[in-house]
Amino acid sequence: MRIDRVEAIPFRIPLKKPTRWGAHGKMTASEHVLVRVYGDSGAVGVAEATPRPTIYGETQVSIVHVIAEHFAPRLTGLNPLDRQGYWAVLDSIPWNPTAKGGLDIAIHDLMAQELGISLAELLGGRPIPVPISYLVGLGTVEELLEEAGGIRELTGVNAFKVKAGADPAGDVERVRLLRQALGDEGFIFIDANQLYSPEVAIRVINEMAAHGLAMAEEPVPVHLGVYRRKVADAVTVPILADDSVITLAEARRELEGGAIGVMGIKTPRTGMVNSLKILHLAEAFGVPCWVGSQGVSGVGTLASAHFYGAASRNIPFPADLGTYLKQVDDLLETPIDLRDGRIHLPDLPGSGARIDEAKLKQYRMDR
Ligand code: MG
Repeated sequence: MRIDRVEAIPFRIPLKKPTRWGAHGKMTASEHVLVRVYGDSGAVGVAEATPRPTIYGETQVSIVHVIAEHFAPRLTGLNPLDRQGYWAVLDSIPWNPTAKGGLDIAIHDLMAQELGISLAELLGGRPIPVPISYLVGLGTVEELLEEAGGIRELTGVNAFKVKAGADPAGDVERVRLLRQALGDEGFIFIDANQLYSPEVAIRVINEMAAHGLAMAEEPVPVHLGVYRRKVADAVTVPILADDSVITLAEARRELEGGAIGVMGIKTPRTGMVNSLKILHLAEAFGVPCWVGSQGVSGVGTLASAHFYGAASRNIPFPADLGTYLKQVDDLLETPIDLRDGRIHLPDLPGSGARIDEAKLKQYRMDR
């Protein structure tokens, strides 16, 4: 079993409407990179790398370049089962988290296909139905309620992440009205993208807690260090780590600092190997995990859903894997099977992400 060839293809799939977050964040399309790792048997592992210039410093161009010029020549010929071997190649260049994440996931997909098992099984679990949440971006209350109501009606999803931070009083009001609309059963959490001050965070989160907020993602700046602990101690819902835990070392820092109650894991930025390390580290601290998205399309969604299947004992929350629903189309041959608020994984070896070549031709940006 050898890696024969590695490919990185930039693609662009428009969103039905723009998603906005934080102070400046805005997405109008999924402009990501399809990573394909070909085995010498003919099997092809696939993954989705997600450039986020304002978070990780990577662009679509930089991801394609680092894979094609630096990683691909040195991965070719390696045994995909040799995780130490291929990570030695990936670690030879610092940072570039989603380029490496994409390669690691595509290699895992290839390994699972070669072994004739699902990706979840390869990772130590099984492909169970995955309950998901859906992100409602910044916007008016009317837009938010309409979008959430429509998604619930269409998919059975009753878990929602609300982008927050810019308008604290309005944030509380949005959570209150969403709770009213969803009833007691609905799962609601916010992501403030580090925009609250500690004082505001404590007040606002406790007000939202009265409306059944499940958790609060990155309410205050990551650089506040020890002050983050004060917020965690003063609120009655767990703080969910995302921007503060991009690497294993950062995950350890946050766990030791006692500033987080839930560990966020995003496979696009930590691949499968480092996602499992973070999962196990959190387990050692008695901290539950949550599977985040990275605004992935169908390919990335399936990979993360398999990770959930392998890690679900320590993940008591819905996975945030609804963003593919925001796209006008997808690269997959068969649409994701979302029923009763849960993703049902395809009964295929690997992640089950099979690429529709005509669609790839339509959405790829390199020709
Ligand atoms: Mg976040």
